[in-house]
Formats: sequence, C-alpha cells, structure tokens
Amino acid sequence: MVAIKFSNTLTSLILVCALIGCNEGRESSVDDICVAESAGTYPKQSESPYTLPWGIGETYSVSQGNCTIGSHRKDLNQQFAYDFGMPVGTKIYSVRNGIVVSIEAGFSDGTGVPGEENQVSIEHSDGSVAQYIHITTNGVLVELGQAVEQNELIAMSGNSGNSSGPHLHFQVLESFCPLHDTSCSTMPVNFRNTSAHVNGLIEGKSYTAE
Ligand SMILES: [Zn+2]
Repeated sequence: MVAIKFSNTLTSLILVCALIGCNEGRESSVDDICVAESAGTYPKQSESPYTLPWGIGETYSVSQGNCTIGSHRKDLNQQFAYDFGMPVGTKIYSVRNGIVVSIEAGFSDGTGVPGEENQVSIEHSDGSVAQYIHITTNGVLVELGQAVEQNELIAMSGNSGNSSGPHLHFQVLESFCPLHDTSCSTMPVNFRNTSAHVNGLIEGKSYTAE
C-alpha cells in the first residue's frame, strides 16, 4: 500500500508539472536509460528537415536537453524537448515550412503559473507539429491558419507560464495535441544548420545557426 500511495503521489506531481514541468529552463540530470534507447533514432543531421529556431549567426545554449529527469521526461512524452536560454524578446524563426494550427499570446511574462504559456504550434506536411513555448506577451507574430516558411520570423521569446527564467521550450510532436495534453509523443529532432550533434543537442552546449 505504501508503494501504491507513493506511486499515486508521484503521478499527481507529474500531472501538476505536466508538459511544461516544474523546473523548466534549469539544467537537469540525464536519464541514462532514455538516452540509450533514443540513440540512433535521430534523423541523419545533414538530411534533417529542421533549422535552429533563431537567426543566422546567433548563438544560444541548451539549458535543458533531451531525456532528463527534470521536465523533459519520457513518462511525460517530453523526452525530445529542448529548452534554449535566451533573453525575452529574442526573435524566433520557424524551423520548417508549415501551417499555424494553434496560438496563445495574451499571458504575462514571469507569473510562473502553469497553463499561462504563450505559444505557437505549426503543423508540417508530414503531420508533425513544432511547438514554440513561453513566448512573450503579445509576442506571437503569426495568425491561426497562416502558412509560414522555414526561417520565417514567427514570434518573440519570453518567460510566460510555468517557467523559471527567460527561455524557449521547443518540441516537435508526432501529431497535434493541445499544450497540456501529454498523450502526443515528442519526436527526436536535430538541426542541419549547426555543429554536429548525432544524438540531439547536448545540454549545456551552445549552438550557432549557420
Ligand atoms: Zn522545456
């Protein structure tokens, strides 16, 4: 019974922290089993359909990588999410062509309240959906239904919702789910316009968009 009660408590905690997580933006330890299972599942980098979500020549670091024991957990379907530390107002560019399928723009930065995340979700031709989360107040620069091209300016980064500091939470889902629905799986993503990262970007490292 004790074990069951603990399990229920843990499940509740996970649900409270669902999707965006309780320690968003902070560095986290890695889940070694998840890392081992994920190795080799990333696209060949030179053939990746994705480019980094910031401007050419700019450099940002990964504040939380894939397969952590923080909020990018496998049991939350978040193991392939990335957090990028960047000041509020940093220009965010689409990683791939697509259609805007969901936006939120009216929440304030710095409240720390789960559910108050401004975001842009863009569906690609294969049905996958990129999500750009914690966008600043009124920082969404695209409209619902709009077609966007790769490297098109779509938003300004921020610190809205369940976030411990200014950063962009970025993930690609296999198909569209609303922001706090964790039933959709994240997909392994790498980016063709930066330095080598065979099994995803590494937490703590910086990457320049080339
Ligand atoms: Zn995150």
